[in-house]
Formats: sequence, C-alpha cells, structure tokens
Amino acid sequence: MRGWPSGKKRRKAWPAYLPCAFPPAGGEASNRGKVMHDAVVVGAGPGGSMAARTLAQAGFDVQIVDKKRVVGEPIQCAEGMSQHAFDLNGLETDPSWILTRIKGAICVPPNGHRFYITRDPGYAIDRARFDRWLAQEAVDRGARLAVNTRIQEVRRRDDGWVRRQRGRAPGQGPRSG
Ligand SMILES: Cc1cc2nc3c(=O)[nH]c(=O)nc-3n(C[C@H](O)[C@H](O)[C@H](O)COP(=O)(O)OP(=O)(O)OC[C@H]3O[C@@H](n4cnc5c(N)ncnc54)[C@H](O)[C@@H]3O)c2cc1C
Repeated sequence: MRGWPSGKKRRKAWPAYLPCAFPPAGGEASNRGKVMHDAVVVGAGPGGSMAARTLAQAGFDVQIVDKKRVVGEPIQCAEGMSQHAFDLNGLETDPSWILTRIKGAICVPPNGHRFYITRDPGYAIDRARFDRWLAQEAVDRGARLAVNTRIQEVRRRDDGWVRRQRGRAPGQGPRSG
C-alpha cells in the first residue's frame, strides 16, 4: 500500500479526499468547505447497513459509501436466513425479499453424504433486494448513501479522520450515487 503523501504532492495525487471528523455538536458541519460526518460506514452490505441504521436511528450524521454501482449486486450468497438471525437483529421480515419459508438447510456434497447445516426454520430470500431494503432502512433514518465510490484510505488527522476515495459525489438511495 502506498504511504500517506505530504505537502503539495498529496493534493496533486489525491484530489478526492474528504474529512470525516467528529464535530462537537454532532450532525453535519463544515470545516474549510469540507463535509464532516459523525460516522462514515464503508460498505452497504448487511453489516454496514445495520451499523448505519443503528447510528442514524440514534441521531448521528452517517455517510455510507459502497464501491458497487448497485447495492447487493452481484449476489455472493446462497440466500438462506434463519428466523433466529432476524430476531437477533430486531428485523421484521418483508414480503418484498422473502421468497419462501424453509425448515432448515441441507448440504449435498458431490460424494452424496448429505448433512444438515441447520435445522433452524427460516427463509430463502432475495439477497440483492434484502441488501437494498436494509440500506434503505438506514437512509430512511437519515443516513446518506454514496454508491460507485471506493474508499481507498482512512487516516487520522488532527481531531478527526480523513478518507481518500474514488468515485461519484454522495447521493440518496441504494441505486443512486
Ligand atoms: C458463496 C456464499 C454463500 C453464502 N451463503 C449465505 C447464506 O446462505 N446465508 C447467510 O446468512 N450468509 C451467507 N453467506 C455469507 C454472507 O454473504 C456474509 O456473511 C455477508 O454478506 C456479510 O455481510 P457484510 O456486510 O459483513 O459484508 P458484505 O456483504 O461483503 O458487504 C461488504 C460491502 O463493502 C463494500 N466494500 C468493500 N470494500 C470497500 C471499499 N474500499 N470502499 C467502498 N465499499 C467497499 C462491498 O462492495 C460490499 O458491498 C454466503 C457467502 C458466500 C460467499
């Protein structure tokens, strides 16, 4: 990984880095014309969106950034979720991404020796829709989402953090940028 450049060289090499410091009063603030946030969440997968949703719900100013053009795609998941997982995270199921109910999950390897992965009942879900729904849950609570934006580095500076990114300007919604 390249080091953090200094002086004039830094500005020339990385024009797109934005401070993401923690303003004392909370909420978005301006520091020499730069946008500041209480938290920047890198990645609008289930982990990032849950974190952003929780922070936004608590009143923090949150920016989510994802390098993908469309949240949730391409799908990298078998799309099975147990009811327990939803209960644990305080999430209600939504008909827009539930495909069917399942009684558990069985692995069928090439040698034919099947075994249960889980006997927990749950759902086959549309994972791409689920990821977008969860990101939207965060946006509905006040978080902002920028897609097609790759975070390249996050670094401490003064009393905050700066992030170096490549991509489009922040926008709203799981499909916009
Ligand atoms: C083949 C396969 C099958 C699976 N099947 C299941 C299953 O059936 N049931 C189940 O519950 N789980 C399953 N999983 C696991 C599940 O997909 C993961 O546990 C889950 O996606 C993890 O969520 P996450 O938010 O931590 O990470 P991710 O979903 O990987 O999200 C991370 C996000 O961060 C973004 N990102 C990464 N780096 C940057 C950067 N520098 N800048 C901006 N954005 C960035 C990525 O684009 C991505 O959107 C499966 C996984 C695989 C690979």
